[in-house]
Amino acid sequence: MEYNPHRSEYWDERAFEENMKLAFDVCNGCRLCYNLCPSFPELFQIVESYDNDAAKVTRQEMDRVADLCFQCKLCYMKCPYIPPHRYDLDFPRLMLRSKALRVKARGLSRSDQFLGNPERVGQMGQMAPGLANWSVKNGGMRRLMERMYGIDRRRHLPRFAPRRFSEWVKRHSAPALPPLEEVDVVLFSTCTVEYHEPGIGQAALEVLRHNNIRAAVPPGQRCCGMPALDGGDMEGAIRRAKENVDILAPYARAGKTILALQPTCALLIKQDYPTLVPGEEAQMVARQTQDLTQYLADQMKRGALKKSFVASPGPVTYHLSCHTKAQGIRRAAKDLLESIDGCQVEMVDRCAGIDGTWGLKAQYYDEAIKVSAKLTERFQARHDTAACSDCALAGLQIETVTDAPPVHPVQLLAKAYGLEGGAS
Ligand code: SF4
Ligand code: SF4
Repeated sequence: MEYNPHRSEYWDERAFEENMKLAFDVCNGCRLCYNLCPSFPELFQIVESYDNDAAKVTRQEMDRVADLCFQCKLCYMKCPYIPPHRYDLDFPRLMLRSKALRVKARGLSRSDQFLGNPERVGQMGQMAPGLANWSVKNGGMRRLMERMYGIDRRRHLPRFAPRRFSEWVKRHSAPALPPLEEVDVVLFSTCTVEYHEPGIGQAALEVLRHNNIRAAVPPGQRCCGMPALDGGDMEGAIRRAKENVDILAPYARAGKTILALQPTCALLIKQDYPTLVPGEEAQMVARQTQDLTQYLADQMKRGALKKSFVASPGPVTYHLSCHTKAQGIRRAAKDLLESIDGCQVEMVDRCAGIDGTWGLKAQYYDEAIKVSAKLTERFQARHDTAACSDCALAGLQIETVTDAPPVHPVQLLAKAYGLEGGAS
């Protein structure tokens, strides 16, 4: 199977269809993933309609299965046939290849152009955040957005912050960018934090400073590239990944830890940048990148974080996001938060059904709500507990049905320390 977009085989339609037919045949025989997402039931139904002969599946049917994949990566974690097995099956990457080939042949849809470029959306919203926030709540504007960009009118969308995270950094750091030798860790802030949730970045910087960990936020960072990949814009994803590698490589080379503030971005940098950007630098960046919560949990465990708190979050209902799990992280938030006196964490290990841009689209909204039903039921049933998730996009799904947006673990930690960036 070919997963490297820099090889010509990746873009060969016939080779791709052969790979897909093999994958369909293997999955149809295996069926371990039957209940993970809508892709697999669709796949089984298609193959069964040909008397289990996957060789007869058409390109349009392959597209249907690929369109139902929202890149949660749960099947990859479960699959016994991932590389280096001889089947060499990486089902989520094969679905991305399907979309990339389609975009190469037919171009990007208007919806994927819009959703694949969160920086442009963020910059537009930041010109007049009040107006932008009114628009995302206004019924008429939402109908227009649904018609123009395919974003479901019922979906809660991220609010635009009054000020960008990078502006806050400039005002609260002197110098704004310390010299490399005076830095312990660098933050990869992510579009979510830059335009919508600067409180996560503020809490991260304050918690790190409180614990004498010197942090820098290098300017010029781009979107990690995942929203572009989601829509099949491989060229856009590669371009963004390359720019981020150029910015982060000097820190990685000097052995600094790169802390990604959102799990999807951390996962992409760690697992995909070495393929998207050929060469040693992307590999170094991938090796040095960690999820913020994992880093803090490790530091707490080794006694490098202070344990004197002024408050406790009390009981917490925590959502374990798919992309946190896909990084091999399960207990980090629980361990971190339970080091605060009086804090007990109930972990909800259920998919939110958004994973990028999929759950925002009108044609998948109802499926996304079904996928996330067990998660949202648990959050609806909680009483007097703090709602928490590393993933702000998953938080949107929780907010859609509970009207209570969860906060990032670092915000609860900052509040427990009595720092300004703590969740209010
Ligand atoms: S990555 Fe998730 S959504 Fe995609 S096929 Fe696998 S389980 Fe389904
Ligand atoms: S992705 Fe792997 S585990 Fe899932 S159905 Fe296919 S072969 Fe089985």
